[in-house]
Amino acid sequence: MDKGLFAGINADVLTQENMSLHTTFKIGGPADYFVVPKDIEALIKAREAAIQAGLKFFILGGGANVLFPDEGYNGVVIATEGLNQIFLEKNGLLHAGCGAAISDVAQFASSAGRAGLQFFYSMPGSTGGAIYMNARCYNASISDALKAAVYLDREGNVRTLETAHGGFDYKVSPFQTNGGIILEGIFATTGGNAEALGKEMEGYKADREAKGHFAYPCAGSVFKNNRAFGLPSGKIIDNLGLRGYTVRGAKISEHHANIIVNSGHATAQDVKDLVSLVEDKVREATGFQLEREIIYV
Ligand SMILES: Cc1cc2nc3c(=O)[nH]c(=O)nc-3n(C[C@H](O)[C@H](O)[C@H](O)COP(=O)(O)OP(=O)(O)OC[C@H]3O[C@@H](n4cnc5c(N)ncnc54)[C@H](O)[C@@H]3O)c2cc1C
Repeated sequence: MDKGLFAGINADVLTQENMSLHTTFKIGGPADYFVVPKDIEALIKAREAAIQAGLKFFILGGGANVLFPDEGYNGVVIATEGLNQIFLEKNGLLHAGCGAAISDVAQFASSAGRAGLQFFYSMPGSTGGAIYMNARCYNASISDALKAAVYLDREGNVRTLETAHGGFDYKVSPFQTNGGIILEGIFATTGGNAEALGKEMEGYKADREAKGHFAYPCAGSVFKNNRAFGLPSGKIIDNLGLRGYTVRGAKISEHHANIIVNSGHATAQDVKDLVSLVEDKVREATGFQLEREIIYV
């Protein structure tokens, strides 16, 4: 590994960094390079350096929805955590760097008496990851509040994508197919009461805690919901008696059947085997093919 590849770039560069340290599953072997740019220019340069060296790269936000292989990642993981500026314009438009924790963005907006993002308080992950996944909770999708996203396109040009132009749907965003790297989210907020918003957010956090979200390492819901199934995926899995079902270190959460937890020393393979088992059982029992939400890197 030659860190010199990234010489002169304003970034922290590590080699052979275990991805288990950077994912909420706490699973994943070493990435050849782990690069943490300190500003947008550094991210752009790190991407170019990887491409020029013929290395593949992966953009990592909060690591709350990904499963890295046990063998690690043969390439460059570019982590966005350093791009975490948040600011509010007088007109209520809130700008958040892609690496800002979405929960911090919600907190920032609410403290300033601005509503629209409070639903995402205490949801793990970054702003870029939430936009990429079009994260959804408490009946709100991130695209409901997102006005525009500034991103780097496949050719390396900085562009702006207006949410109103479409491409967002339930847990779907244009970035899942256009190969863009989200640099900043621009959110439309509305007037609210800071104290009331604060209380509302504490309610969401308490609800997540009660549902065991933070009891064990996990990546949230494993499967998307699908109206055509008639029931939420977790309920379908639960009805098959799979709650608590274990494949080595991977276990279906006792709290919520759509969550797989790392109950100790789970490997990526343990999780994948359990995911396949659930898919098979659901298909056999109902004819439905579950759609995976967590991303296999
Ligand atoms: C306890 C727990 C509870 C959860 N609850 C919910 C929930 O209620 N609702 C929900 O929707 N999800 C939930 N999740 C899943 C997760 O929080 C979301 O999917 C979150 O939006 C992922 O963001 P991230 O930054 O961690 O993304 P990562 O896991 O780092 O990455 C996910 C994908 O986004 C891409 N990506 C990340 N940043 C960028 C960027 N800047 N530009 C382009 N691509 C990027 C990555 O390449 C990857 O493909 C939960 C997870 C946990 C652990």
